[in-house]
Amino acid sequence: MTKTITVLPGDGIGPEVTGSAVRVLGSVLDKSRNKIRFVEKKIGGAAIDAYGTPLPQDTIDQCKQCDAILLGAVGGPKWNQQSMKLRPEQGLLGIRKTMGLFANLRPVKAFQALIHSSPIKRSFVENVDLVIVRELTGGLYFGRPSERRGTNKEQVVDTLAYSQFEIERVVEKAFQLAMKRRKKLTSIDKANVLESSRMWREVVNETAKCYPEVEVYHQLVDSMAMQLITNPAQFDVLVTENMFGDILSDEASVITGSLGMMPSASLRSDKVGLYEPAHGSAPDIAGQGKANPLATILSAALLLRYSLDMEQEAARIEEAVRDVLNQGYRTCDLQTGQQDEKVLNTEEMTDRVINEINKATIA
Ligand code: NAD
Repeated sequence: MTKTITVLPGDGIGPEVTGSAVRVLGSVLDKSRNKIRFVEKKIGGAAIDAYGTPLPQDTIDQCKQCDAILLGAVGGPKWNQQSMKLRPEQGLLGIRKTMGLFANLRPVKAFQALIHSSPIKRSFVENVDLVIVRELTGGLYFGRPSERRGTNKEQVVDTLAYSQFEIERVVEKAFQLAMKRRKKLTSIDKANVLESSRMWREVVNETAKCYPEVEVYHQLVDSMAMQLITNPAQFDVLVTENMFGDILSDEASVITGSLGMMPSASLRSDKVGLYEPAHGSAPDIAGQGKANPLATILSAALLLRYSLDMEQEAARIEEAVRDVLNQGYRTCDLQTGQQDEKVLNTEEMTDRVINEINKATIA
C-alpha cells in the first residue's frame, strides 16, 4: 500500500535535516512492503519568500490528504524585523491548529554514549526514559489576542482558556500511551492557583477510572520543574497543558545533553501526525554541513511508529542511531573533546545511520 508523507523542510538547517531523515526513511522502507511517496511543500520563511504567506493553501491542502508530515524548522533573522507582519512561526502554529494536532509528544531518553555530555550527574540521568505529552492547540498561546489597555496602555491581559473536551482528548492520549509503556502517569498542573488546572485535575481523575492499571500522580508545575532535574528517572508519561509543557520539555532537553537529539510528534485522535525535531532552524550553522540530523531522524522513527504502525522499522532506526553513537561518531554539537570521538558532517552522520540499518537488515 502506498502512503504519502508531506515533507516541509522550512528554513535554516530544516532542508538539511529533513533531507537526512527522508534518506533514512527511504532506506528502511526499501526493505518493507509499504511504499512511500514523499511530497515536498513550503512553510515558514521559505513560503513567505515564495508566496507571500508562511502557510500557503497548497501546503495545507497537501497536508490534509497525506498520512504524515515531516517538518524541519522555521524562522531566521531574515524574517525577524519588527516591521514584518508575516512571521515564519505563524506557519508552524497554523499547520498544528489547522490539522488539529492537539497532543505533542516529546520522548526523553538518555543515550549511554552521550550521558557524560549532560550537565546533570550520570547517576541521575542513566535510566531516564520518559515522554512528555503537551497539550498543543489550547491554553495561553491560543487565548484571545492580548491587547494593551489603560490610558497609557499600561495594562495587558493574556487568556488561558480550555474547554473540558480539549483537556479530555489529550489526557486520553496520555493514558493510552501510559498503557503501552510502564503504566505510570504524572499529570502536571497548578491546581492550587488556577481554575483551569482544577478542571484539568478533575478530568484526569475521571479518565483514570477507565484505566485502573495506570498509576496516576498529580504534581504542581513548580515542584515538577525541580523533580525533572533531581530525579527524572522516576517518571514515565507526563501530561500537561500547553505553556507548562513548552517550558518543561525544553528543561527536559538538557537531560539528553543536546537539542540536536530530541525528536517530537504532534498527534490527534486518528493516525495522522506531524513529526519534527525539538530544535529550531539554527541559522548560525545553516548550509555548512554542521547540523546534527539525529533529532529529525529520530522524529522519522516516531512517524513510522505512530502514523504508519511500523514499530519494527521505527525501532531499527533508533537502534542504528544508538549504535552509531556507541561507535564514537558525533556531529559538532555533540563533541566533548573525548579521545575516541569521530566528528562527522550532516551527510556523513546520515550515511553512518543508513549503514547500520543496512547491516541490521542483512544480519
Ligand atoms: P535553535 O534551536 O535554532 O538553535 C539554538 C542553538 O543550538 C544554536 O547554536 C544552533 O546552532 C544549535 N542547534 C540547534 N539545532 C541544532 C542541530 N540540529 N545541530 C547542531 N546544532 C544545533 O534556536 P534559536 O537559535 O533560539 O532559534 C533560531 C531560529 O529558529 C529562530 O528564528 C526561532 O524562532 C526558530 N525556532 C523554530 C522552531 C521550530 O521551527 N519548531 C523552534 C525553535 C526555534
